[in-house]
Amino acid sequence: MSFYPETLYIDYPQEKVDGKLYEYRCQYCKQLTTDINGKVSNHDANCQYRIEHTYFELED
Ligand SMILES: [Zn+2]
Repeated sequence: MSFYPETLYIDYPQEKVDGKLYEYRCQYCKQLTTDINGKVSNHDANCQYRIEHTYFELED
């Protein structure tokens, strides 16, 4: 049983969203974890984490 057929990039630093009980976001670019959804390309283009991991990501 596999929920994650592809590699997920979820080791970026996260911080809690103020006033939200279960929402977290990337500490660098402030994108919500639910929006990032484990994909490097969903971080902001200038995000430090994205820049550091971009060479793993294949353009489709
Ligand atoms: Zn980010």
